[in-house]
Amino acid sequence: MDDPTQLSLRALRRAVELANAWIEDLPSRPINVGATPHQMAEQLDEPLPETGTDPDSAVTEWMRRAEPGIVTSSGPRYFGFVVGGTLPAALAGDILTSTIDQNGGIWSLSPAAAQTELVVARWLKELFGLPMSWRGVMTSGATMSNLVGLAAARQWASERLGFDAAEDGLGGHPPIPVISSEAIHASARKALGNLGFGRSSVRTVPAPDGRVDVAALERELASIDGPVIVIGNGGEVNTGQFDDLKALAELCRSHRAGAWLHVDAAFGLFAAVSERYRHLVSGIELADSVCADAHKWLNVPYDSGFAFVSRPEVHAASMSHSAAYLTGSTEQVTGSSFVLGSSRRGRGFAVWAALRELGREGVADLVDRCCRHARHFAEVLTAGGARIVNDVVLNQVLVDVNADADAVAAAVREEGTCWLGATTWRGQRLLRISVSNYATTTADIERSAEAILRVAERVRAETAG
Ligand SMILES: *Cc1c(COP(=O)(O)O)cnc(C)c1O
Repeated sequence: MDDPTQLSLRALRRAVELANAWIEDLPSRPINVGATPHQMAEQLDEPLPETGTDPDSAVTEWMRRAEPGIVTSSGPRYFGFVVGGTLPAALAGDILTSTIDQNGGIWSLSPAAAQTELVVARWLKELFGLPMSWRGVMTSGATMSNLVGLAAARQWASERLGFDAAEDGLGGHPPIPVISSEAIHASARKALGNLGFGRSSVRTVPAPDGRVDVAALERELASIDGPVIVIGNGGEVNTGQFDDLKALAELCRSHRAGAWLHVDAAFGLFAAVSERYRHLVSGIELADSVCADAHKWLNVPYDSGFAFVSRPEVHAASMSHSAAYLTGSTEQVTGSSFVLGSSRRGRGFAVWAALRELGREGVADLVDRCCRHARHFAEVLTAGGARIVNDVVLNQVLVDVNADADAVAAAVREEGTCWLGATTWRGQRLLRISVSNYATTTADIERSAEAILRVAERVRAETAG
């Protein structure tokens, strides 16, 4: 066999060459229209290779064959979903994370990973103004962070009702009601489904303009005698709107049997970093758990999220596990006692690098800049005859171009300047824009707005003709 060290170095050099080409092209690369499943299968779908190949050939071959299906989603003119790019230090930190291949599950497997995660959790609490007594933990994203927060909520409620949900399950016990607004994110429902509440068990109250109707929520709470879980939304995915978290926290605190407030703030939590937008999350520090993403607005590579829980005891009771081979090690911290996984990626490194690169000022600047771009986008589109449907409170813009939104979004993607999607908001199909990439410039916004207006006009003409 060839020397493993030399093979690794050759493969890695090849990967770096391919990565260099990608990064150099990124700002100018057309937004990929997305290959069809048939095209991708033609490129990649084949029987398991019987014989091996050089590591560097494997890398080269995958990149060449996958190329037609690689979307420029980390580029500066990608405005679909809420995606974010890749900060330079986070990118390099992530590559190093794979290189050193640490298991972040328990202290003895990697003191470096464990301590980094602890520091990152503390930095993030400082950054967002969350209480230092909370436990923060890295996850694979906000869906998993929703699951972590809601598992702690379930544990807390079961203990108040005299049982142990993690130990005994929910069967045979009084149901634990969950209330949220109709704007609840699908991932919170998914977490509830997997926690045994059931996706459709959520009692939803109206959220005109994306913000929960607090009086309606108060009435719903008043109708419940036992402990209850309330899910607040900090950054609604269409409008970027926020529930009045302070009002929600006060209602929860005054509920006679107790109420746990979990806030889904996957990208909205970043408002807390900016002088200008901080008021939007005012009261979040009074919540019981908060979920957020690093791979969206912090511009860290996929996948990376974090969860914060105010009560470390119920948090640990809901997630910890033990085994004979795990006990006896000198574990100050066991990251895996606070999340679903056991073995886990050392996700702290890339986030540490991102926060070290930017500092508090840099993160604030990133958030302010994206929001300024979103407002400018709205202005240019308005000047061109489009109608902005939402109040642009953060980085999300909903646009009515007086033409079939899905057709316009598809034609814009095909035209190649920028990527956007469509959404349904209050029964209407609209273009949806999210500005979340650190590298986006004013020129990117103006070019993209011009392309959207031009394509929309063409689609209108085609439909009329
Ligand atoms: C993106 C998002 C999620 C899900 O996060 P993932 O990282 O994709 O798992 C949850 N809630 C909100 C509000 C989001 O925007």
